[in-house]
Amino acid sequence: MKKFLLFIFAIFILSGVAFARTSEVISNQYLIEAQKKIDKIGFNLLNSNGIDKRMVFGFNLKRVVNAGTYSADRQIVMYRGIYERLNSDDEIAAVLAHEISHGVDSYDGILRGFFYKWSHFFAPKKYEYKADKRAVDYMVHAGYNPVAMIVMQSKLFSQRRYDWYSTHPLTSRRMMTVYEYIYNKYPEYLVKNKYKDDIFYQNFLLTSQDNRLKFQQKVEKKSKKPVKYM
Ligand SMILES: [Zn+2]
Repeated sequence: MKKFLLFIFAIFILSGVAFARTSEVISNQYLIEAQKKIDKIGFNLLNSNGIDKRMVFGFNLKRVVNAGTYSADRQIVMYRGIYERLNSDDEIAAVLAHEISHGVDSYDGILRGFFYKWSHFFAPKKYEYKADKRAVDYMVHAGYNPVAMIVMQSKLFSQRRYDWYSTHPLTSRRMMTVYEYIYNKYPEYLVKNKYKDDIFYQNFLLTSQDNRLKFQQKVEKKSKKPVKYM
């Protein structure tokens, strides 16, 4: 009997420890605050851009570095894995604005966008570039710094060896496309670049030297003026 009671006591203590450990990892307050933040930035992006399509935002506890748009119910989900690595509202806005762009596309076409998933399946890269560029517009209109898109991609997206087998474009190409888009449309963010000393932006500058040089020559040939803010 004594042994049995001891056994029950041990189980009780151990489950208490296990419970304490899980509740230590993730508190209710943390969840509420994360969801609130995502809602606030997400709805700010929707309203500031006059997006008249309904979308809602969710927070998923899985530690995957990803976010996604469910086209069936137009829910944008940000996973904890990516959320925890974003350092500012600008960076959160970069992720959400990209997904909102997919959400907007999911409304287009026949049967309320029923075939969107398939068109995305067959030409994923086209939609990824489009989502990145449109996200830059969304960010600027809602008061976020679009250079954070490059910062976020530089920090989080790995570089695949080949482009052809992936659904997403090569990260280096993606960042360069975003950079060119900001350069052409919103140069003021590069003239006075808030992210100039950011280590992830610095790494983009370091790894994109050849591409930026080519781009610079192209611009200078066309405009006949030297580029001041590379
Ligand atoms: Zn995407």
